[in-house]
Amino acid sequence: MARIVVVGSINMDLVTTVKRRPEPGETVSGEKFSLVPGGKGSNQAIAARRAGGEVGFVGAVGDDVFADELRRVLVDAGVGVSRLRRAHGPSGVAAIIVDDGGENSIIVVGGANSRLTTLDEDDLEAIAQADVLLCQLEIPLPTVLQAARHARAHDTTVILNPSPVRELPEQVWAEIDIAVVNEGEAAQLGAALDAVPHVITTLGADGAIYRGPDGITLPQPGVRVEVVDTTGAGDTFTGALAAHWPDGPEIALAWACTAGALATTKLGASASIPTRNAIERLLSR
Ligand code: ADP
Repeated sequence: MARIVVVGSINMDLVTTVKRRPEPGETVSGEKFSLVPGGKGSNQAIAARRAGGEVGFVGAVGDDVFADELRRVLVDAGVGVSRLRRAHGPSGVAAIIVDDGGENSIIVVGGANSRLTTLDEDDLEAIAQADVLLCQLEIPLPTVLQAARHARAHDTTVILNPSPVRELPEQVWAEIDIAVVNEGEAAQLGAALDAVPHVITTLGADGAIYRGPDGITLPQPGVRVEVVDTTGAGDTFTGALAAHWPDGPEIALAWACTAGALATTKLGASASIPTRNAIERLLSR
């Protein structure tokens, strides 16, 4: 079983559905409200665990009403939480408004995620012991860089999902072994990705394409499914890829594409992440 450490974010999503979004100064009645645990770090950790990895999570919740629930979701999924700390103040939240046309407006407040500014000895030890380090960009960049440098120095493979996408200093790219990006992120990052030995670009229904250090590319066709909601497909893809990377790019891509496709067949982000059995069943078809 691949050992994976995720250093990343954990949020509570506050999702409101409305017919029409309010204008400035206006109050409207919403249709539905739900609390959905999320955050790219947490979602990808759960996806890696369900795909068969042994996963530990390094991150922070606050000391508010959401903290225990956020922790419980990881524990229930079988993700190790011994490096999950409780920071003073609010947990990370995302206030999401979805209107009738399916358009959404999102406000993310980093909360405890923004206070994950440094890693301690035990976090670093966990990274050194792992096969794969998996990071995203919803926590402070110096923490991502510290994790990646330590991983590199201890032969732990570094996977970065540079999302939410932004320009990164060259010194960060220099520490990354594998980048997982969607088409929009690939276009925005452009030549910066040339410095990364392995780049995987996800292509929605068309699957994904891998580019290796020798320049050779390997397409992974999409898996045909009955799509219900594509939220969380990218996180599921990335988690499953991390769990199977030690088996080689071909196998890892097949698992990731199958897991990503299955994630689109159910509503929601974390609730739609498929189990190892479900992925294996579809893979063997
Ligand atoms: P993101 O959600 O980050 O924008 P993509 O849309 O590229 O990323 O989706 C990530 C992965 O999820 C794809 O590589 C694919 O494996 C799977 N996926 C997404 N949409 C579909 C779809 N309509 N049908 C089958 N698989 C899909």
